[in-house]
Amino acid sequence: MSDSCTFCKIISNEAKATIVYHDEQVTAFRDIHPVAPTHILIVPNKHIDSIGTLDPEDEQVIGHIFTVARKLADAEGISNSGFRLITNTGAHGGQTVFHLHVHLIGGQRMKYPMG
Ligand code: AMP
Ligand code: ZN
Repeated sequence: MSDSCTFCKIISNEAKATIVYHDEQVTAFRDIHPVAPTHILIVPNKHIDSIGTLDPEDEQVIGHIFTVARKLADAEGISNSGFRLITNTGAHGGQTVFHLHVHLIGGQRMKYPMG
């Protein structure tokens, strides 16, 4: 837990969010500024700054985040239409919150190319 981290506060229920999933390893909640009909952030309960500071011991939780993403896509009814998972890392990656998170975005056709 990082005292100044918004996402740590959401995980520990000190800050409000619309939580859609929670287990021992991860929490998922709706993005406060959604860019599509479904826009959920999936985060490890353990504070990790970004993929840029990932330890090999964190590999399991990263895999779990993707399994939870698949389940949430099912629950949101977007598995068949498809969806996008994004992890912004660092300044050039567009990361603004430095608690690792995966965006699950869907419910409309995504724009391409990226970058
Ligand atoms: P990123 O730019 O990848 O770091 O994404 C951070 C995301 O967190 C943005 O899409 C924000 O809209 C979202 N966000 C920031 N604060 C909150 C919050 N308190 N509750 C829900 N989503 C948030
Ligand atoms: Zn945090």
